[in-house]
Amino acid sequence: MSRPVFRFAPSPNGELHLGHAHSALLNFDRAQAAGGRFLLRIEDIDTTRCTPAFEQAIYDDLAWLGIEWERPVRRQSEHFDDYRAALEALADEGLVYPAFMTRGEVRGHIAEAEAAGHHWRHDPDGVPLYPGLDRKLSRRERRRRIEAGEPFAWRLDMEAAMARAGAPLDWEERGRGPEGETGRIAADPAQWGDVVLARKEVPSSYHLSVVVDDALQGITEVVRGRDLFHATSVQRLLQELMGLSPPAYFHHELMLGEDGRKLSKSRRDTGIAALRAAGVTPADVRRMVGL
Ligand code: GLU
Repeated sequence: MSRPVFRFAPSPNGELHLGHAHSALLNFDRAQAAGGRFLLRIEDIDTTRCTPAFEQAIYDDLAWLGIEWERPVRRQSEHFDDYRAALEALADEGLVYPAFMTRGEVRGHIAEAEAAGHHWRHDPDGVPLYPGLDRKLSRRERRRRIEAGEPFAWRLDMEAAMARAGAPLDWEERGRGPEGETGRIAADPAQWGDVVLARKEVPSSYHLSVVVDDALQGITEVVRGRDLFHATSVQRLLQELMGLSPPAYFHHELMLGEDGRKLSKSRRDTGIAALRAAGVTPADVRRMVGL
């Protein structure tokens, strides 16, 4: 039997904090306990926010924590061709469309709908669903606007995608969701609406790259924070559309700051490097994250 394959997939757009240490250590421990392989993947498709310095800090922090990963590391910014090919395959099937509505237009449309008494749906992250008025544009009109240089994003036509997938989808949850969900979980991609799969400035997206790479690297168990539990529905749908076999998922609880809020890079929460500089040991970190 082939060995299980695990991965830790941070984005080098800030310093790793205790939440990342928790995720990385748990991942590594589960890989070791299963006699599996452990990979590190650098999710740096957003080349405007990711930096080589943050990437180097990830290697330093993980090595200090005692984590060992296989080389070479897959850096997503080196594989835009893979994501483009996946997007083109979906486009060939008519499952994506160029979405031209600006943020202001989206806001305006939703405000009008709400003023007329319609309830506008929000995704699990609290973002209003994309109105998708441009789903119905003719091929010729799409081409004209693209050629005129109008900015747009490639969005998944959720309804068409779900129809194409056919039967309802589910995934194997080995951890727990926010409401304690575990075991076979029914995917509900529709709650996300027409998700973005690529943008002009970033020719891929988190969902597209993660699905392509998890399959390409033969990942058998995705260990990650519970904040991505609902995102799994979209990823499960994309796997189905692309004919990829899904990994199992283990969503773990999130580390909270003293104020009870989720730790974040942008708030410069307890960075690993700062802890190290303050004399904290890797064993202390393990204790601090409950491992
Ligand atoms: N790159 C994502 C992050 O840093 C994690 C992706 C995943 O584990 O699926 O939040």
